[in-house]
Amino acid sequence: MTNNPEIGQALQKLIEGNKRFSSSKQSHPNQSRERRQELVKGQKPFAIIVGCSDSRIPPEIIFDQGLGDLFVIRVAGNIVDVVALGSIEYAVDHLGASLIVVLGHSKCGAVTATVQGGPVHGHVETIVQAIKPAIDTAKNLPGDLTDNTIKANARLVAGQIQSSQPILSELARLDKIAVVSAYYDIESGEVHIL
Ligand SMILES: [Zn+2]
Repeated sequence: MTNNPEIGQALQKLIEGNKRFSSSKQSHPNQSRERRQELVKGQKPFAIIVGCSDSRIPPEIIFDQGLGDLFVIRVAGNIVDVVALGSIEYAVDHLGASLIVVLGHSKCGAVTATVQGGPVHGHVETIVQAIKPAIDTAKNLPGDLTDNTIKANARLVAGQIQSSQPILSELARLDKIAVVSAYYDIESGEVHIL
């Protein structure tokens, strides 16, 4: 995936934090008054998380991280639009983050609604339309269609970020950033890299 040691270390940090969380051995790092004071000078988050708004998946908690550690973008269905891409570009360009994790999760309501295909109202339609291409990728796979669509969606969104012109695609080509898709199991609390 990458030969950039900084990216490898960032991913390792997330994996270790999630292991602490899922085994109830959290260390709750970087949540002190001292950390707060230190961050007045500025932030240098080590990873960008593109996650779902679902209240069961707060990134700082499930990766056992603290203040100033993660730059988080959350919308239902962990999808990206131009505003989200701009936010990612900002974190990469100005804050020095080099790892981007797109985090899908089990029991995702946005993906479930898309797979079920019933009527949706208002702006939810935009979310459903954005998730729909993942069904095409997932529909011929063995296993549960919704779960496969959740994983396909995370992969597709990671691909969109990685190929985003003109900034992120170039940085990915130069191995200055890497985009990883992952799946969070809300029952076990474990994150699996896809
Ligand atoms: Zn969700």
